[in-house]
Amino acid sequence: MKEWDGRFPRSLYEEIVAHARSVFPEECCGLVAGDRNGRPVRVIPMENSLHSPVRYQMEPREQFQVQKSLRSEGLEMWAIYHSHPVTEPVPSATDIRLAFYPDLIYLLTSLKDTPPLLRSFRIRDGHVEEAPLTLTDGIA
Ligand SMILES: [Zn+2]
Repeated sequence: MKEWDGRFPRSLYEEIVAHARSVFPEECCGLVAGDRNGRPVRVIPMENSLHSPVRYQMEPREQFQVQKSLRSEGLEMWAIYHSHPVTEPVPSATDIRLAFYPDLIYLLTSLKDTPPLLRSFRIRDGHVEEAPLTLTDGIA
């Protein structure tokens, strides 16, 4: 995957926020697919199998199926997103512990603020590094 320049389509941001609102007060979660140039192109809402306001988990089998069908379209898993319904959009200790994909972007939104913030992070070996994100209009 090529290095990401931080540009993120506003339309995808709006889909993530709509998903977060639709399951409030539970956390939402899902995937963002990227193209071969490492640009985010599609939001894929997933079920939070824990139905929790403080934790999220995607069904591994469902996630595997999504990845498989993305590959058949020439896309790949680019980010994992989830929401914090009432707290800051930064990774929790649990989020960091359960971040198994050092090459993915971790997107976090929070409904605490209006408009909701969306922040992006890389999480590698327990280290969190924010990757600046800029919302863009139209095609990224
Ligand atoms: Zn979290």
